[in-house]
Amino acid sequence: MYSPSAAANSANTTELSNRMFVYEVVGLRQSTATDSLNYPIRQSGSVFITVPYSRMNQEMQRITRMGGKIVSIQPLTADNQANGKAAAKAQPKAEPGAEPQQNQSEEKGKPMTQAKAKSKADIPVNIYRPNAPFIGKCISNKELVKEGGIGTCRHLTFDISAGDLRYLEGQSIGIIPDGTDDKGKPHKLRLYSIASTRHGDNLDDKTVSLCVRQLEYKHPETGETVFGVCSTFLCNIEEGADVKITGPVGKEMLLPDDPEATVIMMATGTGIAPFRAFLWRMFFEQHEDYKFKGQAWLIFGVTTTPNILYKEQLEEIQEKFPDNFRLTYAISREQKNSEGGRMYIQHRVGENADELWSLMQKPNTHTYICGLKGMEDGIDSALTVAAEKNGVTWSDYQRQMKKAGRWHVETY
Ligand code: FAD
Repeated sequence: MYSPSAAANSANTTELSNRMFVYEVVGLRQSTATDSLNYPIRQSGSVFITVPYSRMNQEMQRITRMGGKIVSIQPLTADNQANGKAAAKAQPKAEPGAEPQQNQSEEKGKPMTQAKAKSKADIPVNIYRPNAPFIGKCISNKELVKEGGIGTCRHLTFDISAGDLRYLEGQSIGIIPDGTDDKGKPHKLRLYSIASTRHGDNLDDKTVSLCVRQLEYKHPETGETVFGVCSTFLCNIEEGADVKITGPVGKEMLLPDDPEATVIMMATGTGIAPFRAFLWRMFFEQHEDYKFKGQAWLIFGVTTTPNILYKEQLEEIQEKFPDNFRLTYAISREQKNSEGGRMYIQHRVGENADELWSLMQKPNTHTYICGLKGMEDGIDSALTVAAEKNGVTWSDYQRQMKKAGRWHVETY
């Protein structure tokens, strides 16, 4: 249980009486009552209501009467102001003398940030489990690697309109490939990061998309070429075929609600998948529930130019939104680092380390890493140097960012 009185105690009482708080509320349905209060209910179901200290009690009772549940309370800061502003108009005039009350939020004493502040009730998880997966239909399966590139990587879209599957940007779904393993048992699920926004590629809330690379390697003993079970199943799936889907899962890679956040994304290969979802939500969708006004920077590591997944659209965003989006490639087999070796993502991070470090000082900067296991080490080394220049130990600073929900890693 989150305690508003604990939050309140931390502040000086005189100061407190002048302060404003932001309630995140779930469970309010758009109705005449909420319309008349002018509460903007988001697609996610969350409503942010700015409340003066003196009215906290009354506001809680009113929200409860309307069937809402308060899941977090934060002091109004520059970071959450955007959410607060949305509801500021709804606020009735303050009535003196009211005291704050205990409420029902789950997070106690944790540093609340944009990512962590997302109500747990709003994050869909495990709607479909492996013993009863959702049967989706493949409606599109397109090659993403251009001629001359290495390997196969497909953009797949599944129709999910027949079920209850919902998801947020940054989550993953499980796929259970058809067939059985060498013991005759059904295959186990494999996870894939969702590459579309919550509204799907067609903006109709009826699809989910993935970006899947076919695993192919030489068997270390026999030298035979081996293809991965699930990635091969997906890359070869025909349009119209059924696919068993589980999930969604994952709370680590969610996009902050704050439309003014700085979002640093570092991807290798199919690690672009969640960032495609982020960038489409930020720049292409312009959905009424989220108008991005912050800064986004993608540092993308690939092997060759034809392997730059979603290249045209990424460059289109860069061209259309030069003030809000920065795109940096590390193309290992074509570009050279300062020592003459192959250009990997950590070299680009090293080149830009001072700037990245300074962006990371802002409390609403979120950094995301996604892709090949092991890519974090080089990134850590590059940022260690920048932190040291400022007399800071990188691992300590990184720990603080993790604790504040501003450092997000998903590698596989
Ligand atoms: P499998 O048949 O399961 O084979 C994998 C096994 O092959 C490995 O466990 C290892 O034993 C062996 N192997 C692999 N490489 C070698 C090698 N070089 N030498 C020797 N043995 C080897 N993948 C994507 O393509 N896109 C995504 O967006 C994506 N998102 C993910 C998100 C999460 C959270 C996680 C955990 C994984 C994600 N993956 C993604 C990876 C995906 O889940 C599968 O692991 C991948 O597709 C391989 O599965 P497979 O069934 O094809 O391979």
